[in-house]
Amino acid sequence: MPTTPSQPHAPSQSPPASDTVCTGCGLLCDDYAAGHQPTDTRCLVAGQWLNSATAATTTVFGRQTSLEEALTKSASQLLASQRTLVTGLATAPLEAIGVASQLAEKLAAAIDGGLAEMARTTGPTIARVGEVTAAFEELRDRADLVIFWNCDPSATHPRFLERFIESPISSGRRQTISLGGTSVLPSSAHHRHFQLTDEQMVPTARLLQHAFEKRPAQNLATQPELLISEVVAAMQQANCIGFVSATETDHLGLSSWALAQLVRRLAHHKPAFQIPLGGGIAAGGPNAAGLATRCTWRYGSPGAIATADCDGSRFEPAEADARRLIDRGEVDCLLVLGPLPAAVKEGIATAQNPPAVIALTDLAPEPVRSQMIVLAVASARATAGTMLREDGRLVRIIPRGSSALPTLEAMLTMLNERIQQQSGAGEER
Ligand code: SF4
Repeated sequence: MPTTPSQPHAPSQSPPASDTVCTGCGLLCDDYAAGHQPTDTRCLVAGQWLNSATAATTTVFGRQTSLEEALTKSASQLLASQRTLVTGLATAPLEAIGVASQLAEKLAAAIDGGLAEMARTTGPTIARVGEVTAAFEELRDRADLVIFWNCDPSATHPRFLERFIESPISSGRRQTISLGGTSVLPSSAHHRHFQLTDEQMVPTARLLQHAFEKRPAQNLATQPELLISEVVAAMQQANCIGFVSATETDHLGLSSWALAQLVRRLAHHKPAFQIPLGGGIAAGGPNAAGLATRCTWRYGSPGAIATADCDGSRFEPAEADARRLIDRGEVDCLLVLGPLPAAVKEGIATAQNPPAVIALTDLAPEPVRSQMIVLAVASARATAGTMLREDGRLVRIIPRGSSALPTLEAMLTMLNERIQQQSGAGEER
């Protein structure tokens, strides 16, 4: 049967509206009872998100100034730059990402939001071989066997187990198995852990596939027979199998490729799907899925876009990702939405000629070795918009409070207009 890449998830028809959506990570938890705070749960990250740090002020090269002057200087900087990189987009709602894309196209800028798959030469697995995926709620409600594939959801997605694994399943007791370096759950009659190294994941996927289909496997490194027979027995007994995996830790992309093949084969026999978790709290923002989807629809790839052009962009994984562009000195200006991502800070710290930085942020950025302009915007908590949860579900964010500062989207629109004015004035002269 031919295999085609899965389409990006279509947004739900009726996105749920909650006045309490936590944007602390890509789970976008919206299950709080009315009037309750995300800190009512055991999620420590939600508490940090609610009480997050110092608000930004508008500055040019460290000097506090008016919005007017900062916009003019930012537009001049962007127009004077040889090549700009637009980055940090995972913090932004979909509406702001749309305006940032228009700006990038006007500047013929590179775009990369720092997604881990963009920095590896094989690029995203979904683009190479497709993936059979499902919503988190399908995992919660249907999967009576969950296999954690060399991942530790608690480390990256604090409430994932509580919300989608620990709740009871109507068809009976859920069995869980973890394969890899972390047990994920304590061992019990319902949970087994098989310790495997990263290198053992690919042959294990192939052995499981062959054993499930009762086909001989040749030239594969041997795995403990007990592992294969126990996991295959569990897969045969299950009515529906969900695999939870991590994209961030698969640096070569081979493990996710092997898992995608295994899940596809299983899905020919019974309901089976994969939940490829993104970076969660390490993704650089809660809307990494929204960023990936927006860029894929507009440019044909989720990041590492060498030149933003909606009529045809070049996708260069491990070439045009943010860190490499900075390391190679191929960009002289960064337009950053939100706080500076860790990879960008590291790149600036080691660059021979650090690029100028224009940061549109609600949090005071740490000083870096660059000439920096800060355009202070309203807190994400005071901004309406829409984001995509990591499984593609559309979540509407309702502001919790108000701000006198412009929203990120409004600031990008003002900057776009200022660039238009200044480039027009330049042409007239
Ligand atoms: S898991 Fe993520 S979205 Fe959910 S409450 Fe914690 S930080 Fe917020």
